[in-house]
Amino acid sequence: DVDFVYEGLLNTAVDIDSLEARSRLDEVWIKEVIKKAGMKLKWSKLKQDKVRENRDAVRRPQADPALLIPRSPVVTIMGHVDHGKTTLLDKLRKTQVAAMEAGGITQHIGAFLVSLPSGEKVTFLDTPGHAAFSAMRARGARVTDIVVLVVAADDGVMKQTIESINHARDAQVPIVLAINKCDKAKADPEKVKKDLLAYDVVCEDYGGEVQAVHVSALTGENLMSLAEATITLAEMLELKADPSGPVEGTVIESFTDKGRGPVTTAIIQRGTLRKGSILVAGKSWAKVRLMFDENGKTVHEAYPSMPVGIIGWRDLPSAGDEIIEVESEARAREVIDWRKFEQEQEKSKDDLKIIEEKRKEHQEAYQKVREKYGTLLWKERAFIKYLERKEQKHLRPKEKAKRDSNVLPVIIKGDVDGSVEAILDIIDTYDASHECELELVHFGVGDISENDINFAETFDGIIYGFNVNVSNIIQQSAAKKGVKIKLHKIIYRLIEDLQGELSNRMPSTV
Ligand code: GDP
Repeated sequence: DVDFVYEGLLNTAVDIDSLEARSRLDEVWIKEVIKKAGMKLKWSKLKQDKVRENRDAVRRPQADPALLIPRSPVVTIMGHVDHGKTTLLDKLRKTQVAAMEAGGITQHIGAFLVSLPSGEKVTFLDTPGHAAFSAMRARGARVTDIVVLVVAADDGVMKQTIESINHARDAQVPIVLAINKCDKAKADPEKVKKDLLAYDVVCEDYGGEVQAVHVSALTGENLMSLAEATITLAEMLELKADPSGPVEGTVIESFTDKGRGPVTTAIIQRGTLRKGSILVAGKSWAKVRLMFDENGKTVHEAYPSMPVGIIGWRDLPSAGDEIIEVESEARAREVIDWRKFEQEQEKSKDDLKIIEEKRKEHQEAYQKVREKYGTLLWKERAFIKYLERKEQKHLRPKEKAKRDSNVLPVIIKGDVDGSVEAILDIIDTYDASHECELELVHFGVGDISENDINFAETFDGIIYGFNVNVSNIIQQSAAKKGVKIKLHKIIYRLIEDLQGELSNRMPSTV
């Protein structure tokens, strides 16, 4: 798996070959970083290729205009707090229950239909306020055709009234003005219209296009006129949809029902939804088992603009998720796999950023070494260094080393050339920048030997072993001579350990 990531690194985010200091060290280092970051890779290369082929499910290209038929508008109610949004929605819903003589218990499914005497229908999203509207928009969902802006006639234009206007404008959704609380003595609808001019909301009275309806959510006065105004606007907008082919829609609400499992409310935007349809939304899919309306009544078909409760989801999609019908369960699984894979990719991009940072850090250190030693092989470099030290210090005897307490003599042993090189290279970077100096008195490949113990004893040094063993005899010998042996299996741990030892020996600030 690590190899696979490394391969991925080479192919995607980090073009290691293009970097100068391409060496075995990069690989060792990257693998260490990968281990350190605790990255898990669930995706085998095979699966990755397979998923890639399948790709995502996306909305179909725009429909042939000949297939389009008029659809009812989907309306969101917005406005300042306490101006009557909830009351208005409740009243609208109740007119419906009475009209249908169903007497049933209305269910909150996030949206409901209002039928007018003319037979026209309006879909109201019943989560008032712009929080819901913004959340949907943030997900790229474009569900709302019309915003009904509620302004209390006694209170007038307020902060959230203006915010609502801005939201509608940003989303390019036209407004119908509902001047509410007109039953109140202090109501002044004309002032509301006049004040709104300052925000470019120009009512018909002032030569503009915005329809204003005087209502009272409390008494129910004029509510049907309000619904009719939305229909008039919808006709002007020429709202149309294609009721054929695979379904497209948007999740309005989703919740888990104790008995029925994950439930969503959706607004259908294209096609006709039927029982048995296979849908994908977000990272979930459904085989539609049951559909119901806001009165809890089972429905068999859902058309564009129709809000409908859907049962049959494997997991819970989120509000604002796009719904797309696919041809089979197998295809749905592929799409979900692909989406999860993509998310995984996004995450590993972040991980790659960390790796790249670490690599840059190391690259700089490596560059320093190169400037100093040119392009010699690591063994040659190390040998030169060793000679330099020997010359400078004439292999300091133990006593002097002890007095010289800000020097840490170390012996490095590793399992293979590559790991020793990696450690030496990292050590090189500490030489210059630390108050306490590291002195490499000996290094090599292989298990820890009596020779290493002798070096350590002579220089009062510490032996660091990477992926190597120490026999019992050597252990006893080390104990007798008071030599510390530290074994590690992960390079960064070894380095951290070294850093710890170094700071222990730092000259105390007396
Ligand atoms: P929201 O915060 O916009 O949802 O406002 P509410 O629907 O909760 O209404 C706030 C208050 O105004 C409540 O006490 C309602 O009873 C009252 N209210 C709402 N509409 C009307 C109305 O048309 N006339 C009068 N007099 N009061 C109303």
